[in-house]
Amino acid sequence: MTERSEYSIKIIERLEDQVNSCINCGFCESVCPTLPSSGFRSSIGARGRVDLGKELLREIKNEGKIELRIDESFYTCLDCYACLQVCPAGVNAGEVSEMGKELIASGELMKTDQKNPIAGMIVALTMKNRNPLGIREHCAKWAEGLEFDSESTNLLYTGNMYQMMAYNETLGRVERFLGNRLSQTMAGYISGHTGMSRHLKYFKNSGMEKEMNGYLRDIYLLLKASNVKFNYLGKEEPYPGTFIHDLGYEKEFREYASFLTELFHRKNIKTIITVDPHTYDLLKSTIPSIVENFDFQVVHYLDLINESGFRKSHENITYHEPCHLVLRKDSYDKPKEILESIANLKMPVRSGKKVFCCGGPDELLYGNLSKKISEERFHQLKETDTEKIITACPICFSNLNKDNTVVDISSFLIENMSEEGKG
Ligand code: SF4
Ligand code: SF4
Repeated sequence: MTERSEYSIKIIERLEDQVNSCINCGFCESVCPTLPSSGFRSSIGARGRVDLGKELLREIKNEGKIELRIDESFYTCLDCYACLQVCPAGVNAGEVSEMGKELIASGELMKTDQKNPIAGMIVALTMKNRNPLGIREHCAKWAEGLEFDSESTNLLYTGNMYQMMAYNETLGRVERFLGNRLSQTMAGYISGHTGMSRHLKYFKNSGMEKEMNGYLRDIYLLLKASNVKFNYLGKEEPYPGTFIHDLGYEKEFREYASFLTELFHRKNIKTIITVDPHTYDLLKSTIPSIVENFDFQVVHYLDLINESGFRKSHENITYHEPCHLVLRKDSYDKPKEILESIANLKMPVRSGKKVFCCGGPDELLYGNLSKKISEERFHQLKETDTEKIITACPICFSNLNKDNTVVDISSFLIENMSEEGKG
């Protein structure tokens, strides 16, 4: 029998807890966005992932090692948690996938290496440059000419998320063009030669960059109009490490989370103002559960804006809710509440606890699958027959941006600010 570390034993126990509760009813398959878009391959659906979890536990018990191919099934999971909302036994196939990715990343119980080279590249670049694409300094461009309050203990933390979408979208297209295997070979090479990341800057979509930088400036204006004082770290601002966590690299993620905590303490930060759902969720729930002195107050920027500063609009709009705001334990509905109070909001059939992911989390690793999911979601949003589709997440925006009716909530709010709201 192979020696197992305490880390692997804990994963196995958590995995057993989840998959042993499954009663095999299949409800989770009816909501999982990856299943239909994969052509109904069961291993790319929620129940298939839970079944694979059961199978790999059997292998560990009998053989001591995992020989099954588990990488594609678990890496394609969007971590949206739509499955959990309908499971009568409380099983979360998203968490099962996260544990599967942790087993792959640690390698301890794997018979062969199943790490995805694109995932490895993202983690290597983030650990080295504090940004998955090595473009951290470039991410401060949106703030040129803007004034911040360097004495404030409130930090506006963009986490580089809006800025990176200008590259993400092009890189997703390259991945689709080259195909999965060639992209993985290239990524494996870049992981071993991290200096090559400087060439990634040529993958920028300038139109998208202008749009995303504009949204960040809108967020800045909304906070300023609400008399909020805040600082910004500029070129020093690091990425929050979301990908490292989502791809299962727990050891690296713990190290990265400690670095972030130390940085925020050194900068005398008390409140972190986040602008995107992934960073909000990571800083509010995930990091505090693993780093003891992550004792900052984490808020969403919409918590701080003056909600009475908008005029009533007669526009008919729909809103795509981000999974990381509405499908997590403490769901956050502020964007919807604000939109409802301003305009005629018509929600798509798949909304609230039934929301359908935009497909964004699969963009870099499985571009074709991601594209199919985003097309399905765009179609669902269009079925509301409204004039605008509002998003509240840069990843959702980037994936659903299929015509000029899609806008970020920050821009919609600025457009509808009343004269009093402007201050
Ligand atoms: S909904 Fe829950 S119990 Fe039913 S198959 Fe899916 S994981 Fe198993
Ligand atoms: S988290 Fe989302 S993508 Fe993953 S299995 Fe559940 S429903 Fe499917």
